[in-house]
Amino acid sequence: MNAFALSPDQVKLQARARELAAGPISRRAAEVDRSEQYPWDNVELLKDARLIGMTIPTRYGGQGRSWLDAVLAIEALSSACAVTGRIAVETNMGAVSAVMAYGSEEQKKLAADMVLGGDKPAICITEPDAGSDANGMTTRADKRGNRYVVNGRKHWITGGGVSRLHLIFAKVYDENGVFEGIGGFLAIRDETQGLKITKREPTMGLRGIPEAVIDFEEMELPPSALVMPPRGLKKGFADLMTAYNSQRVGAATVALGIAQGAYDLALDWSEKRHQFGRPINEFQGLQWKLADMSIKLSAAQALIYKAAESGRDGFPDMLLAAQAKIFTSENAIQVVNDALQFFGARGYSRDLPIERMARDVRMFTIGGGTAEVLRNVVAGALLKKKLPQTRDGWSSAASQD
Ligand code: FAD
Repeated sequence: MNAFALSPDQVKLQARARELAAGPISRRAAEVDRSEQYPWDNVELLKDARLIGMTIPTRYGGQGRSWLDAVLAIEALSSACAVTGRIAVETNMGAVSAVMAYGSEEQKKLAADMVLGGDKPAICITEPDAGSDANGMTTRADKRGNRYVVNGRKHWITGGGVSRLHLIFAKVYDENGVFEGIGGFLAIRDETQGLKITKREPTMGLRGIPEAVIDFEEMELPPSALVMPPRGLKKGFADLMTAYNSQRVGAATVALGIAQGAYDLALDWSEKRHQFGRPINEFQGLQWKLADMSIKLSAAQALIYKAAESGRDGFPDMLLAAQAKIFTSENAIQVVNDALQFFGARGYSRDLPIERMARDVRMFTIGGGTAEVLRNVVAGALLKKKLPQTRDGWSSAASQD
């Protein structure tokens, strides 16, 4: 299934990813889930197949590939193993792309070398009291002489404990305690003192990647660790978050891949399973389900590819990325749920991958911006105004009272 005309090179890339997905990645997926161990073997496979660091510019050792190229690989991998798909997201999009766009030469080299070496960078935004309202974060970086001192707590950080490179968002204060804006700092686990992984979250799905609580205690960083956004620290968070539009497209792609994998299993089973003397796909109730599932998948794919292509000269468009993530995450949950139904009791068994897929896919209306908050993003972009339900909106509404 492809909504777009792909180039011969993209078809080859897709075939390479599909072959890997159908082979070792698919064989290991259940074990990755059961053991809850990060799949380092799969990282090596991705490295060998040149599916990580694809979007890193060639002068830093990457392939300078487009977001759509990355999407094609992520989609194929996620249909077999969502954890591996997520590793492909975070080694091609998100934190690494923020550094590649806005980092200093030194920072770009560091991030490129680490990612091409197999590190999946962690992006640290969310805090126990600042989730959707990320601007409410309390992690702070205080300038003291020739360094920044960071204190605070982040939670639900993907890769915490396995990732080495961290992009950490904090409120920056100058030497007089004056707030300068939200900035992103690079730190390396096991090298930067004061970065502590304090807890692993027990997750419903996607169990092969740890989600962790990270504490920063008097973590000292040189000014060169600050990724300076193009319009300075005042607009820092907004600018750095444009990179997150690529991550959102990536997250939507993982959800699409999972749903596609589940649909393929259901389609196949619908021919094999006989009841009432005929394949179950001869019952109209299931035929219409299959039709609806395929429509949802095609529509999601079209939205994702369009969003990816909108980032040809930079990052994907915020509105298109949000639309793609909302639609795909919600519909992928439904598709996987319908696919499970095709299997009857077997679908409820941990012996089949469909149960894992149902747990894995549930995450995507939450992480990387909830479906509700992204609807605010879409509405705000359509109406071209700050909505009352955003932080700025609340304060301006209050000041008018
Ligand atoms: P809350 O913000 O508390 O929201 C609770 C509910 O209220 C939600 O339904 C939400 O949609 C709704 N809500 C809140 N505000 C509004 C509003 N204005 N309008 C309408 N509805 C609203 N974070 C990172 O920084 N780095 C990571 O690597 C990372 N990885 C993650 C991986 C997983 C598996 C998960 C589940 C989360 C991850 N997160 C990560 C955190 C994620 O980004 C947050 O969970 C998300 O932003 C929502 O924040 P919250 O969980 O605090 O929910």
